[in-house]
Amino acid sequence: MACNLIVPIVSAAPSLRARAQAALRAGADVVELRVDRIGDIAAVEELLREPHAKPFILTVRAREEGGAWEGDEAERVALIERLGLLLPGYVDFEYAAWMRSANVRQKIGLVCRTARDESSGRPKNELILSHHDLHGTPDDAELERIVTAMQAQPAAVAKVVFTPRDATDALRIVALRKFASDARPLIALGMGEAGLLTRVMARTSDMFGSFAALDRAEQSAPGQPTIDDFRNHYRWDTVSPSTRFFGLIGWPVSHSHSPHIHNAAMLAAAVDGVYLPLPVAPDEASFRRFMQQTLAPVGRPFAGFSVTIPHKEHALRWLLAAGYDAGTLARRCGAVNTLLRTPDGRYFGQNTDATAAWSVLSAAAPEIAANPAGATVLVLGAGGAARGIAAALVEHGCRVCVTNRSAARARVLSADLDCAFAAWEERASLPADVVINCTSVGMSPKIDDSPLPMAALRTGQIVFDTVYTPPDTRLLRDAAAAGCRVISGRALFLAQAAEQFQLWHGRTAVFPELRA
Ligand code: NAP
Repeated sequence: MACNLIVPIVSAAPSLRARAQAALRAGADVVELRVDRIGDIAAVEELLREPHAKPFILTVRAREEGGAWEGDEAERVALIERLGLLLPGYVDFEYAAWMRSANVRQKIGLVCRTARDESSGRPKNELILSHHDLHGTPDDAELERIVTAMQAQPAAVAKVVFTPRDATDALRIVALRKFASDARPLIALGMGEAGLLTRVMARTSDMFGSFAALDRAEQSAPGQPTIDDFRNHYRWDTVSPSTRFFGLIGWPVSHSHSPHIHNAAMLAAAVDGVYLPLPVAPDEASFRRFMQQTLAPVGRPFAGFSVTIPHKEHALRWLLAAGYDAGTLARRCGAVNTLLRTPDGRYFGQNTDATAAWSVLSAAAPEIAANPAGATVLVLGAGGAARGIAAALVEHGCRVCVTNRSAARARVLSADLDCAFAAWEERASLPADVVINCTSVGMSPKIDDSPLPMAALRTGQIVFDTVYTPPDTRLLRDAAAAGCRVISGRALFLAQAAEQFQLWHGRTAVFPELRA
C-alpha cells in the first residue's frame, strides 16, 4: 500500500471548498475535515454532499486528545453520526472513547463498517480508531500493547500519535511499522520537532498515511510540516524503501541551515536521500541510545550524520567504545562532527570542522599554507570547534596559542595538543598573524558582542570568525574597519558541509544560497 499524504483542513475561511481543493491540488491523497476546529457545520455538510473523487476523513476531535470540541460527548457522537451519513469515506474516532461505551460503539457502527466481512446493508465509512498521547512516548512494551489492542478492534485503520522527546523516541515510534500491513493499516506518528522523522519515514513503509498541513496556519498538530516542506524539502514524492537517510544530531537543531543545504544539494545531484534534523537529548547516554537504535533494523536507512553541540565528543567516545574508528584529526582533537556509515553497516568518524578550517584559511591566505611554521595563530575558545580547528593548525605546523574564558579548559586543550596557552584577560595584547574566534560570542541574538576589543585588531592581521549567524559579525565588521583580512564562519560552514557531502555521496556538492 502506498502511504497516503493526508492534509487536514482546520478552517472554513475563505471557503471550505476552496481549502479542500487547494489541498488536493497540492498533492493530498486524502483530506481530513477537522470539524472540531472548522466550526462551520453547514459548510462541512455542503462539502460532503458534493461528489468527491478522493475520500475525506471526518474528525470531531475531543479535547482530551488535543481537539477543540466544546460540546458534550453525546452531541459529538450525534454530529459524527449525522455527518457520517453523508459518506466522507473515513471517520476518525478516539480509541479511548470507543472503549468507554457500548452505546457509543453501536452509534458509530451505524455509519462505519465495524466488521471486516460486513458487506450487506447500506454503504458505510471506514473507521479510523485513534490514540493521541500529548505528553510523551511510553516504553516499547506499552507502545506495542497499545497498537495490538487497537488492532484487535473492528476498525479499518489504527492511528497512534505520541509526543517524542527526541529522535530516539521517534525511531521507537517508526519501529511500530512492523504492525502495519495491507490487512492491518496503521498510522504511527510523533508530534513536535522530534516527530518529523516519523512523518517522513512513514513513506518508506506500509504505513497507511502521514499528515502535512496545507500551510503554516492550517497545522493541526504541533510540528506538523507543511505539504510544501514535505514535497519540496523532504522529497515526499521520491522517498521509498531504498532512500538513504542522513541527519543532524544535536540539541538544539531547529536553528540549523544543514537540512536546507544538504537536501537541496542532494536534489541537485540526483541523490536518493533525505537529510533530517535529529534532536537527541543532551546527555551522553541519550546519544549512545540513539546510535544503538541506528544499528537496529529501524535505523538501517541512516547512512550518515552531522554531529553538533553537545554530542561531538560523545560521538568519538561512542565510536571507539563500539569498536569503530575515526580519522587522525578527530582522534587528536577528541571530537567528531561527521559519521559515515559504510555499506556493511560500520561507522567511521571524521572532523570536517578541522579539515575545512584549514582549507578555508589556506585558500584565503596562501602565504600561510606555504609556510605554516611562520604563522602565529591565536585561537579564542576551548570548546568543540576550538579543539578541532587548533588540532588542524598544529598538525599543519602553525604556532598556536589557545585562550578561553574558563582557563582550565584552555589549559587542558593546550596540553592535549602541545601548544601554547594564554590567560583570557591577555587576549587583546597577544601578538598574532591570525585570530580565530571559536567562542559563541557574537552569535545571534547577541550580535553586538565581540570576543576582542577593536583596539586589539591590527592592519594586515587575518581575522577568522567561526560564528555564522549572522554572517557579518561585530568582530568581522571591526576587523574590516581596522584593515584586517576577514574570513566568515559561513565560508567554514559551507566548506565543512561540502566535505561531509563528499564523504557520504562521493561527489561535489552544489549548495544553494544561504539566507541571512
Ligand atoms: P562549545 O563547545 O559550547 O564552546 C563554546 C565556547 O564559547 C567555549 O570556549 C566557551 O567558553 C565560549 N564562550 C561562550 N560564551 C562566552 C562568553 N560570553 N565569553 C567568552 N567565551 C564564551 O561550542 P563549539 O562547538 O565550540 O562552537 C563554538 C562556536 O563555533 C559557535 O558559535 C558555533 O556556531 C561555531 N561553529 C561554527 C562552525 C561553522 O561551520 N562555521 C562549526 C563549528 C562551530 P567557556 O569554556 O568559558 O564556556
